[in-house]
Amino acid sequence: MATKIEWTEETWNPITGCTRQSAGCQHCYAEIMARRLQAMKTKGYENGFKLTLHPERLKEPLSRRIPTSYFVNSMSDLFHEDVSFDFIDKIFDVICQTPKHHYQILTKRAEIMHNYFNLRKVPDNVWVGVTVEDKKNGVPRMDCLREIDANIRFISAEPLLEDLGELNLNGIHWVIVGGESGVSARPMDASWALNIKDQCEQKGVNFFFKQWGTWGADKKRGSKKENGRILQGREWNEMPSAHTERTFV
Ligand code: SF4
Repeated sequence: MATKIEWTEETWNPITGCTRQSAGCQHCYAEIMARRLQAMKTKGYENGFKLTLHPERLKEPLSRRIPTSYFVNSMSDLFHEDVSFDFIDKIFDVICQTPKHHYQILTKRAEIMHNYFNLRKVPDNVWVGVTVEDKKNGVPRMDCLREIDANIRFISAEPLLEDLGELNLNGIHWVIVGGESGVSARPMDASWALNIKDQCEQKGVNFFFKQWGTWGADKKRGSKKENGRILQGREWNEMPSAHTERTFV
């Protein structure tokens, strides 16, 4: 399905629904959307935000002719503890059958992802990422990520909830930063985003500033559109190349 998420092209949701994992989940967009879609009686959302497998959606990327960036499971977490490795294998079968596409996988269950890839190779067309919203739960996920041998390893610091301090960016190819959206959104301080941007520049890591969200750079509430994507006078849209060669630290 086409998406407004700035750093991808399509979403593919062979799983929907999830359970909260850490502070970044507090105002989960997928949960709000799933409940809305359930109320609208949208096909596939009969269970609302309850974890649900959709084997009928597995083949979706096979019929897409144009090479596409897919964000896998924007409405769930692929490595949720209740998803069997057998079902995840089925998703990776499709990924391997479609090398013209590339797939961005983002999780808060870094240890489960790590365990999964202990026994399996990450396909060349897969980018693996973890959410790093704070120091307590987010930053430790980076250590699990670094141990996974993949072409692209990325972190999503969205919603960025505090200053992350000095980050170990070794082995990280891409960093996304964003503020939170929604009525109860928590504000992001510009200095937190700039700290990450500066470290990315020093280490030669691609930096993507996704959005301010509900709170603008001026620390006032506004629409996501009004608040825009400008940080320190410009947009930051760096991304790794889909053809980045595999290097492992
Ligand atoms: S892990 Fe992701 S999908 Fe699951 S509750 Fe948290 S934010 Fe929502």
